[in-house]
Amino acid sequence: MAENFIRAEFIHALYCAFLKAPPFNQLMMPEPDEVYCYITDDKTIHGGMAKGRNHYQIHISKATCEHLNNVIMTLLHEMVHIHFLYRGDKVTFATHDLKFKRLANRVCKIYKFDKGTF
Ligand SMILES: [Zn+2]
Repeated sequence: MAENFIRAEFIHALYCAFLKAPPFNQLMMPEPDEVYCYITDDKTIHGGMAKGRNHYQIHISKATCEHLNNVIMTLLHEMVHIHFLYRGDKVTFATHDLKFKRLANRVCKIYKFDKGTF
């Protein structure tokens, strides 16, 4: 069996990398030490995010992401949610409203993701 690259510290390193790239380098985002990454085995979703007492959580499912492309796409999707959460908006991982879609489309345009899949 191949080694699994989907590990919390790897996701956290990707988070740090994408903070330095558009559009996140122009957005209010939590600092790396405020963000905890968790790997789950959830077969029903790719990822999720939540706010803890004084930190933000990013969840990535190794059961459904598998491919690096999916890992990155899921991380960026959750980072869009986290931007709004950090800004103080009342959102959850399930809030895909107009402002979410507008920023998500911007991310897709930059990284050449399909906005239907994102
Ligand atoms: Zn979402």
